Amino acid sequence: MAKFGTLSQEQIKEINRVNVINAIRNNKETTKHEVSRLLKLSIPTVTSNINKLIKEGFVYESGVAESTGGRKPVLLSFNENARFSIGVNMTPEHVTTILMNLNGIIIESKSFKYSKVKDFDEAVQHIERNILSILEGRQIPKKKVLGIGLSLPGLVEEEKLILDNAPNLGVKEYDFHEFQERLGIKVYVENEANIAAYGETIQGQHKNMSNVVYVSITEGVGTGIIINNQIYKSAHKKAGEFGHMRISDEKIQCNCGRTGCWELYASKRALFKFFTEMTGEFVDQLAVIFSEENLAKAQVREAISKYLEYLFIGIENIVLGLNPEYVIIGGELGKYKDELLQFINEKIHLKSSYMEYEGTRIIFSDLGDQGAVIGAALLPQQSIFYHRNNVI
Ligand SMILES: [Zn+2]
Repeated sequence: MAKFGTLSQEQIKEINRVNVINAIRNNKETTKHEVSRLLKLSIPTVTSNINKLIKEGFVYESGVAESTGGRKPVLLSFNENARFSIGVNMTPEHVTTILMNLNGIIIESKSFKYSKVKDFDEAVQHIERNILSILEGRQIPKKKVLGIGLSLPGLVEEEKLILDNAPNLGVKEYDFHEFQERLGIKVYVENEANIAAYGETIQGQHKNMSNVVYVSITEGVGTGIIINNQIYKSAHKKAGEFGHMRISDEKIQCNCGRTGCWELYASKRALFKFFTEMTGEFVDQLAVIFSEENLAKAQVREAISKYLEYLFIGIENIVLGLNPEYVIIGGELGKYKDELLQFINEKIHLKSSYMEYEGTRIIFSDLGDQGAVIGAALLPQQSIFYHRNNVI
């Protein structure tokens, strides 16, 4: 925690504002005396913050409370529709755009298949049209939109608004400044696993998720690291490439040019490969593997077992290196949480050795395959509800 003495007047003002808005948001109805008591702030400080928030539309007077002697206190409520944010998740399969309100509720969602557009540029234009049509349909003026968060499957330089490299989308060094200018709405970009990790810490069901590693299982394996509630990327912006740690000396070539990478054994494609090896049948959909019919077959269960063994080799290494509070298994595989948990629970030895290791709890994502798009929409809301940089 930052030392109070090192903060400037401006920073203290910002912290007070953020704390007041959160205090009102977290209670359905409250009063300024209640906020003052809760935050240990003086009545004049609370009053001036509340007056400003009322003027900006974030807070409104929703009635009067019972008097405890003297004047009846005014009840204050948070206006969840005072501003909105937009989240976009781009994957090689789908591109999803959502509109979210300030309580994190998804109001509208639009998707298209990446295979339907001819290239990345066209996908970006399609996103633009979806955003404009959502805003027009809901009659939301752009000035009420805090920003657009983009979740991208690759290396990202968030300050420069650049997607460095996304091999699965066939794009390099894409600059989102033009997109931002055309729309006239602030744009935020972030890597998919980082953003899903972030989404999970805010909207996931588990408590105290301030130190988390999120393992996103899709075409590849991405990992997002959250340390003390901040996304950890480090100086070269490349931290979290656990998908490419070497776990085998088999000479199978990875997309990255090396061999034996974890991603070759723990991605969605690896599970397809194990399925085909065991059953002799081709598969390219997780839904097929996790169908009730297939889950009842011994060979399919063996394929999933083999896959989980490899998945947990990598997770063990992550736990030994970072010892987070949680490792969250998510991405597309996260959608099959119930099936996988049932599978693991039936094998008692798996349950005891898998789900907790060195004090780290290993859990499946609460947000399923929605983590990235939810996290993307939450990014622009940082400026309202948090008072520090989210990336270290
Ligand atoms: Zn690799």
